[in-house]
Amino acid sequence: MAETDPLLAPLKSVLDPATVRKLATLDLHTIDDLIRHYPRNYIDVRQLTDLALLPLGDQVSVVLDVVSAQVRQNRSRAGARLEVTASDGHRTIAIVFFFQRRGPLRWHEAALQPGTRALFTGKLGDHGGRPQLLQPKYEVIGQDLVDEAAAEERASYLQVVYPASAKAKTELIAQAVKTVLDPLTVAEVPNVIPDAIRLEHRLQGSLEALRNVHRPTEMEDVKEAQRTLRWEEAFVLQTTLAQRRVEAQTRPAVARPRAREGIRADFEAALPFELTPGQVQVGNEISADLERDHPMQRLLQGEVGSGKTIVALRAMLQTIDAGGQAALLAPTEVLAAQHAKSLRTMLGPLAEGGMLGGAAHGTQVALLTGSLPTAARREALLQAASGEAGIVVGTHALLSENVTFADLGLVVVDEQHRFGVEQRDKLRAKGMGDSIPHLLVMTATPIPRTVAMTVFGDLEISTLRQLPRGRAGIESFLVPASKPHWVDRIWQRVREEVDAGRRAYIVCSRIGDADEAEVTTAPGSSAADPVSVLDLEQQLREHQAFADIEIGVLHGRLTSEEKDRAMERFVAGQAPVLVSTTVIEVGVDVPAATVMVIMDADRFGVSQLHQLRGRVGRGSQPGLCLLVTTADPNSETGQRLEKIAALHDGFELAQLDLEVRREGDILGTAQSGRTSLRLLRATVDIEMIAAARTAANLVISTDPHLDDHAALAAALHRIDPERAEFLERA
Ligand code: ADP
Ligand code: MG
Repeated sequence: MAETDPLLAPLKSVLDPATVRKLATLDLHTIDDLIRHYPRNYIDVRQLTDLALLPLGDQVSVVLDVVSAQVRQNRSRAGARLEVTASDGHRTIAIVFFFQRRGPLRWHEAALQPGTRALFTGKLGDHGGRPQLLQPKYEVIGQDLVDEAAAEERASYLQVVYPASAKAKTELIAQAVKTVLDPLTVAEVPNVIPDAIRLEHRLQGSLEALRNVHRPTEMEDVKEAQRTLRWEEAFVLQTTLAQRRVEAQTRPAVARPRAREGIRADFEAALPFELTPGQVQVGNEISADLERDHPMQRLLQGEVGSGKTIVALRAMLQTIDAGGQAALLAPTEVLAAQHAKSLRTMLGPLAEGGMLGGAAHGTQVALLTGSLPTAARREALLQAASGEAGIVVGTHALLSENVTFADLGLVVVDEQHRFGVEQRDKLRAKGMGDSIPHLLVMTATPIPRTVAMTVFGDLEISTLRQLPRGRAGIESFLVPASKPHWVDRIWQRVREEVDAGRRAYIVCSRIGDADEAEVTTAPGSSAADPVSVLDLEQQLREHQAFADIEIGVLHGRLTSEEKDRAMERFVAGQAPVLVSTTVIEVGVDVPAATVMVIMDADRFGVSQLHQLRGRVGRGSQPGLCLLVTTADPNSETGQRLEKIAALHDGFELAQLDLEVRREGDILGTAQSGRTSLRLLRATVDIEMIAAARTAANLVISTDPHLDDHAALAAALHRIDPERAEFLERA
């Protein structure tokens, strides 16, 4: 298919080598890449931009007429500057360019003669009370547009602005798009969305939409074209997901029915608490899935601390009772080790299968991570391959080729956010013969429905909303880092908790040693030098509040023994204060921990902060989360932190998270690699995504291999060639 798709032809087949090289700087290589490189803005050049409406301090694109342009010698520094005054017909602004050399200066002076109309793009600053653009990018708007008659001829007043680079300017892109797009025909760009669906939703044809979006005559057309292209994105993505879902359902899996007696029953009989109604219900859903001879594909989302681990463990035990093994995949070594340990603790004698004193229905829990010493690794590999270990816990290391299982029946992926679709596929390929293991994915934080539909659209969803009873809850507060007295009060408070037998986490955004690898930054974080783990540890050691207290340290560059030891001493209370990076972000469960101090809280994302504070208040004592920040309380960042401090519902926070983060971040991380979504916005296009999902399901239910939907099949191939080839092979 790849060979015959004209849109996958390289740009060099139609454009000159210099242009091709320049476009490559924007990662545009094929015809499809170029025609999907949509304009970021449209400017009606008949109208000068009203300067009165422009926000100071923002990036602006303005159409203005040059009134005067003068070269002046710099007084205090070398070189010269070009001072331009430009007008919107009422007001003027100053535009200044600095130059070291005469050549470019002359060139720009000639380009910006009085009377020239141009589109200037830059940050609108303030210069002594007057708006000013400093070193803006600009494009002269051709006479053909300013001149009425010529413009009529051209039939468009819309200047298209592309995301550009220094090498590939918007003009060059526009010209290349014209060259490529003009000769394309409907035969080469057939409609991706089947006619019936297109008519029902009043969408344009694919080629028509592309023409309207790149070379529009009216703004109205642009809007409609964008709606069509968005719809196409949603539809193509939903079709892939529907296909995956159907494909998995038609693949065989070994049924793992629930046994009346066995390790699961023994475990449940010994549970020290009652399951929440949510845990019971979700448990039943999963149990029923496992009984079928097609693979379960389920996402379990739940509030932090809602008890997802027990739910997963019951599923693993059911699998073991039915003769299979379960793999639990965790995002970090610390979490994998913690999981292994806490599973062993929860299982007690049931985790000592085959050993003296082990229970009758016992099994073993093996831990397999990348940094394991060779002997331990060999042992774990053997336990997995022989089936001796009913549960194998690990990190990415589990995905490697040389890990084999005797009979892998269930894969549980914890904290899904960090695993991509391909990794899910890799693990599942470890099933026996044709059959693939059942899959349970758990997310750390609840996700809004639309994101669930886009990123996890191939999974059924179960939700745990309640927390177990007897949780005292968490309170969060902001602490301004600029007030030493307040920060001091934090350390006093930590000390009080320690004296009451509790534990405190203190999280920093960086380690602070020579080569910084582990630095956390959220968008919009403040520029100030963030506090590091090693510096803070030093500082706290010397602080009178901690004179006789051991302070532990945990970060990603310790060896796994060092990490284990730090965790052990923390849990046991020998080192009740732990200064750490976000390695403790997900899943770590220490019920005695009551305080979470987060330094430079503005450097962390919404869901990260929620995860972090979910580490405390897990026992019967209330949790306290202190968000230390240098951010001004009135700034956007300060406001965001205030909101996070006030909100404790994971679903509401997930929505806030979506609004704060750029879409690409969310979809990009989960999908890995370049996202296929250019225009679709998971926050806004909710109804569109739902409609596209319904339509895609319908198409796939009648034509699962897209034999009668060639254009759609080609579009799928373009967004994910590997996946498409995988499907073809299957
Ligand atoms: P998360 O959903 O964040 O992964 P965990 O599974 O780690 O949460 O559970 C958090 C804590 O709650 C654990 O200590 C676990 O033993 C405990 N827990 C789970 N279910 C219940 C329950 N039904 N009643 C009381 N405690 C529970
Ligand atoms: Mg968990």
